[in-house]
Amino acid sequence: MQKRLKIDINGLVQGVGFRPFIYKIAAKNRLNGYVLNNTEGVGIEVEGEEKDINSFLKSIEKESPPLANISDIKISEKSLNLYKNFKIKKSLKAASRKTLISPDVSICDDCLKELFDPSNRRYKYPFITCTNCGPRFTIISDIPYDRINTTMQVFKMCSECRGEYENPLDRRFHAQTNACFKCGPDVLLTDLYGNVVEKEEPIKKAVELLKMGKIIAVKGLGGFHLLCDAQTDEAVLNLRKRKFREEKPFALLADDLDIISEFAYISEEEKQMLLSRRKPIVLLRKKGRNYISEYLAPNNKYFGVLLPYTPLHYLIIRDNFNALVDTSGNLNDEPISIDNNDALKRLSGIADYFILHNRDIFIRSDDSVYMIFDKRPFPIRRARDYVPFPIRLNKSFPNVLGCGGELKNTVCLIKGENAFLSQHIGDLENLQTFEFYQKSIAHLKKIIEIEPEIIAYDLHPSYLSTKYALEIENKKKIGIQHHHAHVASCMAENCLSEKVIGIALDGTGYGTDGNIWGGEVLIADLVEFERIAQFDYIPMPGGEKAIKQPWRMGLSYLYKVFGNEMWDISLRFVKNIDKNIGKLLIKMMSEKINSPLTSSLGRFFDGVSAIIGIRNVVNYEGQAAIELENVINEDANRDAYPFKINSENERYVILYDEIIKGIIEDKSKNVGNGTISYKFHKTLVNIFLEILENIRRERNINKVALSGGCFQNMFLLKNLKYSLIKRGFEVFHHTKVPTNDGGISLGQAVIAGMSYFL
Ligand code: ZN
Ligand code: ZN
Ligand code: FE
Repeated sequence: MQKRLKIDINGLVQGVGFRPFIYKIAAKNRLNGYVLNNTEGVGIEVEGEEKDINSFLKSIEKESPPLANISDIKISEKSLNLYKNFKIKKSLKAASRKTLISPDVSICDDCLKELFDPSNRRYKYPFITCTNCGPRFTIISDIPYDRINTTMQVFKMCSECRGEYENPLDRRFHAQTNACFKCGPDVLLTDLYGNVVEKEEPIKKAVELLKMGKIIAVKGLGGFHLLCDAQTDEAVLNLRKRKFREEKPFALLADDLDIISEFAYISEEEKQMLLSRRKPIVLLRKKGRNYISEYLAPNNKYFGVLLPYTPLHYLIIRDNFNALVDTSGNLNDEPISIDNNDALKRLSGIADYFILHNRDIFIRSDDSVYMIFDKRPFPIRRARDYVPFPIRLNKSFPNVLGCGGELKNTVCLIKGENAFLSQHIGDLENLQTFEFYQKSIAHLKKIIEIEPEIIAYDLHPSYLSTKYALEIENKKKIGIQHHHAHVASCMAENCLSEKVIGIALDGTGYGTDGNIWGGEVLIADLVEFERIAQFDYIPMPGGEKAIKQPWRMGLSYLYKVFGNEMWDISLRFVKNIDKNIGKLLIKMMSEKINSPLTSSLGRFFDGVSAIIGIRNVVNYEGQAAIELENVINEDANRDAYPFKINSENERYVILYDEIIKGIIEDKSKNVGNGTISYKFHKTLVNIFLEILENIRRERNINKVALSGGCFQNMFLLKNLKYSLIKRGFEVFHHTKVPTNDGGISLGQAVIAGMSYFL
């Protein structure tokens, strides 16, 4: 029997080869009609035998192109129209669109094969792409996703490329990035003054230079990267020196999985993630003996490793190196360079040579960084290849902008049921990053086509993101407490809206009492929160300085517990404190001068790390805590320390005394740091177990949401999660957005969006 169906598909279905796919399966099933891009996504009409139509529908469901992501299909039956053939019709233009823009995508298998096929016309062409792969988000300046709205617009396709572009059966049909040697962008190798060193075979020459230990800045997909040989200490140390990056780990670009397994352990899930088309940096446990320079990730259990994701990467690394250092092309905390001239200006003190090209990057996007926790993805930094793919919410919201925090900033725009997080923007502490911040908001607003009605921001009055929000005129503005935002972000990505017990543990977040919070248990939903437990307040002598110099926190804890008797403790940490400075800091704290109060767990980690002699001063954020976690001796299997929790004004306050005393006692008995760290972590787990059992009894809430940067501590996350599950709690944590401050813009936006319904 003949039938005619109208099919409307929305989701990520444009610019991903969806129409040629429909064309092909229509032909295969002998169906007539048409397919076109419209404001909702893709519109299809098919006419033919019922059984053929059914097989056509099955193919849509089962065989969609790799990048397509269907969120919704609507099907209606119509009376026969007697179409004569199947056509790909011109796109419908309209004012408002619901279709999604694809993230950038790593090179696909077909293109990779062609890249290394000497008989292919794109053999070794660094910009080979097709509808299934290549840049998207980073080159699009406006919608719809047509070449004219991308940085590829300056390249006019040659007749061969044009032929592919216009052939519905070709893999490059409507591939907006289509190009070849003849018509597309090309690379050149320059010295640090921008003088061309090699034009004919720039990549071959670059490989030679890398082998000599040189540092090369390479213009990649979302920005410049710095490469050098990862097996040569000298190259790595040189890079550290020039980048002013003493100890923070560098990432590794490795040729393939076999090579990675020579220096790191890879689980099945980690393997899948490394190989996935998103190609994030994945944190993998180091193997004890390996040939990677020891300076790559000193005092760290992990290597951040990624596989090549662009043709250019492949051309550099394949058969030439096992692994290269691959780090962002920036100075310290500035955003990465994306522009040739800017790179030559800013990176000439770091790189010896530059691989430049003339395909402009419209908006920067760093590499994403992921871990696998409990067989699932655990994002540390969400950027390239994930953005702007939305997080699905469990209800429809008004248009909201969440402005994010200060460190590891991202922003979030909510439109309907979709929450669009920006790429990782960075620490909003300098003008360049703030400019990038503003550009990212404008760009995201444009490609998603929304104008937010509600603006959500952090309560910290001096964050640049807060100032930015407060300067926006004629919008409803709502300040959101930092840790409420953390908990809400975890709730939102897990589609929770009922009241939960939220454990929010991090370094810094402005509290409603003006103090610095960071070790909090909240009872929260998406509307309000109650602070039900906290670590006892303790002064941070010197404010910000106490974050960079954990020994100051060490002193603060010791003074709080022992008072002036702390000077009598026989401990190397105490002996090494300059007594004059130490006493001055104590005076400062007593007189409440530049000594803000904090309940942060991050600071507690820092303090303990300093007291037991691991780290007095940090070179990068979180270093003292990371190194404290890294020394854990998991076989220790000892008891935890005793602890005391006070109850003040219906709030539990966790005291430090017993814990610090236990640590000092262990130290005096020469117990190893591996055991002390183990016991300390176990103590934290026990503390939260006791508090949560009490809360559950009192309030009858059984769902727990874990959020905040401290949960990047895998020992804490794993042990707390499983101890809670053992006691019957239902535990939720992040798998879609970072648990650190990179996730709070989502929480802010959702809480502010809820105000619309009140
Ligand atoms: Zn491809
Ligand atoms: Zn061409
Ligand atoms: Fe935080």
